[in-house]
Amino acid sequence: MESTKLLKQYFGHEAFRVGQKQLIDALLAGRDVLGVMPTGAGKSVCYQLPAIMLDGLTLVISPLISLMKDQVTALSAMGIPAAYINSMLTPREYEDTFISAGRGRYKILYVAPERLLTNDFQRLSQSVHIPLIAVDEAHCVSQWGQDFRPSYLDIAKFIRSMTKRPVVGAFTATATEVVKADIVKLLELQDPLRVTTDFDRPNLFFDVERPRDKFARILAYIQEHEGQAGIVYCATRKNVEQVCEKLVQSGVSATRYHAGLSDEERRRNQEDFVYDRRRVMVATNAFGMGIDKSNISFVLHYNMPKNIESYYQEAGRAGRDGAAAQCVLFFSAGDVQTAKYLINASNENEALSEEERREVYLRDMERLRRMTGYCKTSGCFRHYLLQYFGEHAPDKCDNCGNCVGERSQADITVPAQKILSAVVRVERRFPGSLGITLIVRMLHGSGEQRIRQLGLNALPTYGIMRDTDRMKIREYIDALTEQGYLMQTEGSFPVLRVTDRAWDVLRGETRVTAAVRPEKAAEPMQKRKKGEYSPDKDGGLFEALRALRTELAKTEGVPAYVVFSNAALADMAMKRPHNMREFLNVSGVGEYKANRYGRAFLDAIGKWEENK
Ligand code: ADP
Repeated sequence: MESTKLLKQYFGHEAFRVGQKQLIDALLAGRDVLGVMPTGAGKSVCYQLPAIMLDGLTLVISPLISLMKDQVTALSAMGIPAAYINSMLTPREYEDTFISAGRGRYKILYVAPERLLTNDFQRLSQSVHIPLIAVDEAHCVSQWGQDFRPSYLDIAKFIRSMTKRPVVGAFTATATEVVKADIVKLLELQDPLRVTTDFDRPNLFFDVERPRDKFARILAYIQEHEGQAGIVYCATRKNVEQVCEKLVQSGVSATRYHAGLSDEERRRNQEDFVYDRRRVMVATNAFGMGIDKSNISFVLHYNMPKNIESYYQEAGRAGRDGAAAQCVLFFSAGDVQTAKYLINASNENEALSEEERREVYLRDMERLRRMTGYCKTSGCFRHYLLQYFGEHAPDKCDNCGNCVGERSQADITVPAQKILSAVVRVERRFPGSLGITLIVRMLHGSGEQRIRQLGLNALPTYGIMRDTDRMKIREYIDALTEQGYLMQTEGSFPVLRVTDRAWDVLRGETRVTAAVRPEKAAEPMQKRKKGEYSPDKDGGLFEALRALRTELAKTEGVPAYVVFSNAALADMAMKRPHNMREFLNVSGVGEYKANRYGRAFLDAIGKWEENK
């Protein structure tokens, strides 16, 4: 049968999204592929559909053990026989799965990479026909990727050991050129079709703020966006605990998620968020993979992530339903230190030699530098992100903080001279110089003890920027650093120093201009797209359908999105089907689910119409 028909029949989707058909056709024609698509673009269909169409058992290699169960449940709910093999299975389940797989009961088998070279698995691969191997999160094979997994290096070995080489598809959401090259080489892809889909997410508004009090700003933001769901990402578990607790104390319906909580609490909190019982999720980066919650309106970062790959993936969880959404990163200099600490802590990979470790470390630091550059850029945020992923993007997007915040080019020579002369004086007094925070405070004329202890209040530059906001002073310092008049040293205690160029400014020979931003950027226009469904105005139908979904999911013991996605419910509420034929027209409704749930939803719609 034709692939478009099967897409509707099994997955309920009307049409392929960009890139999907090309990848599927290539795999069906026996050609390897490398699919690079952003989170939420729909990678799974690219290997699940060929798996249905090809004879035999497709293997899906994934590092995300905790997600395999949900994926298998979701496939089963669509009528696609699937199973998984990983360390979460009991010995009994493990054995049963092998037996059933050997008998050809499944179309798709998820497997953790560590299992591939085991005897059991080798035997299985000899006894059943395996037409396709899909490698999910393929960037894990590269030590230049942000999540290197040594066991991914076994994949190529495993494929070589097979009597007949299957077609191989590699998929990832984040890959720079180096990582892409590594994927092709290390997975030994043969002349793969490479498809990279557009990384731009036009409905996302990007911004960076540097508030003095991050928590106060985040609270204000959440309160200003009443009724919307969102995620607040923090770099550490401790921050998650603190931010969540303070939000709850301030009356926000928030919950939390990090790897230090019990499985039970994590499951419960995640469900509370996915089922809309809690409005805000405060989490570390452990949260989010495979979360199919499409109505997330904002993703705030309480701390800067370690790299742009992580940032774009986390921020990208906002607005998956296509509605306008915001991604705001709250940056402070301390974030750089935290990120460095986390990089150091994660650089203990035993599978790597000393030299390799050093290289990984340097790459991580380079990634961090680019991430920090994002936070400090005065150019278009979207442009910066897309360029990082090797995509061409216009210089201005008109939908990010820097584009709408109207930073205008201004002459900042006078504040520049004040700052530079202050740094010169500090350098004279303290040959090692001092960090940015103390210098800002000194310029601002802070009366705190530390300033007096160091005698900074005795310098002639003490308090010469008393009337300038501290955030603003920092902004000038960033501009001066960016333009090479100041430099910040590396190491655990970075200090600020003047460069030779600074003297031209101090002598009045050069004027400095910079794009400076107004104190508070205007909020972007938040218009809904024309014809977009609005659940607030449907008289409670969407809510009724969602309640039914919750009930069905509960009875069946599956997550809500396994029954139907939010987008499917929204389409259902808009189309209001009255019979099975119309029900099948709803986007996200395939045959299997129509048979299984159609009656219940049609009844609910009927009942709602009667009571209207
Ligand atoms: P990824 O793995 O790329 O992050 P998924 O495979 O999880 O993305 O898909 C993200 C969402 O997009 C899912 O809700 C899925 O049902 C939906 N989706 C995938 N392909 C299509 C399509 N062709 N039409 C409509 N929705 C789709």
